[in-house]
Amino acid sequence: MEHRSMQRIGGYDAPFLNDFIEDYECPVCKMAFCEPIQTQCGHRLCLTCSEEIKKCNKGVLICPLDKKVSKPDKTFPDKAFERAVQHLQVKCKNFMKNCRWTGDLRLIDNHLENCKYQEVSCPNELCTASVLRKELMEHMETDCIFRLANCQYCYLEILYLEMQDHYDICKYFPVDCVNQCSIKVPRKKMFSHISNDCAHTIVDCQYFNVGCNFKGTRNEQDIHASSSTHNHLSMAMSKVIALETKISLMEEEMEQKFNVLERKFDAIFS
Ligand SMILES: [Zn+2]
Ligand SMILES: [Zn+2]
Ligand SMILES: [Zn+2]
Ligand SMILES: [Zn+2]
Ligand SMILES: [Zn+2]
Ligand SMILES: [Zn+2]
Ligand SMILES: [Zn+2]
Repeated sequence: MEHRSMQRIGGYDAPFLNDFIEDYECPVCKMAFCEPIQTQCGHRLCLTCSEEIKKCNKGVLICPLDKKVSKPDKTFPDKAFERAVQHLQVKCKNFMKNCRWTGDLRLIDNHLENCKYQEVSCPNELCTASVLRKELMEHMETDCIFRLANCQYCYLEILYLEMQDHYDICKYFPVDCVNQCSIKVPRKKMFSHISNDCAHTIVDCQYFNVGCNFKGTRNEQDIHASSSTHNHLSMAMSKVIALETKISLMEEEMEQKFNVLERKFDAIFS
């Protein structure tokens, strides 16, 4: 009864190792008997095959070989025959795909659960692919478009199938600089790249405060800085001189105010 759990209909799909012996083939499913029963007329059928016949005949079991009706109380499981069948030597039905397994028929289900050449369906949800068991790992890890994979940029886990769409919105996906400086920048860092690093961003000369009005890309600023050392220096000098003048003017002004205060003070207290 242990094989019923697989919901098998019909016999075992396992080729006999030696020449096929007709006695062991169910006349209905043409496969090796599974749980054979013996009919009233002395013929044998798989249990499930007999049930299929009954379904089509309003519950009456009619022998497919001689059309004789078999009463339920005259129909019985043929245990001795089942044992004999179970010990027949078979090969794996996947022998054409190179499976070399042979053994007792009773072991075939167990073998098929592990057979490397058995077709199995991919367990990934949505995937309808079936592959040989030995190739399942590779399929699931590298071929299956329904596998979960990590985005290589933000490490988010998503369906491989949706990866390209994800790249269009991934904050860490490297995109070409919008200033076309030929550097790729993670999408999220574009603004900071443009403001702080991009060689193509137009910025003020670093001597803007001492009066240089040159504007250019960061690249151009490098060239400008090295060719304008003299200019920048004299601009800085003029600025220093202007500041000095301003300071001494302020000093004079302070001194005058102080003198005024001093005189007022003297007038009050003397
Ligand atoms: Zn059968
Ligand atoms: Zn019969
Ligand atoms: Zn096999
Ligand atoms: Zn798959
Ligand atoms: Zn991502
Ligand atoms: Zn840039
Ligand atoms: Zn400058």
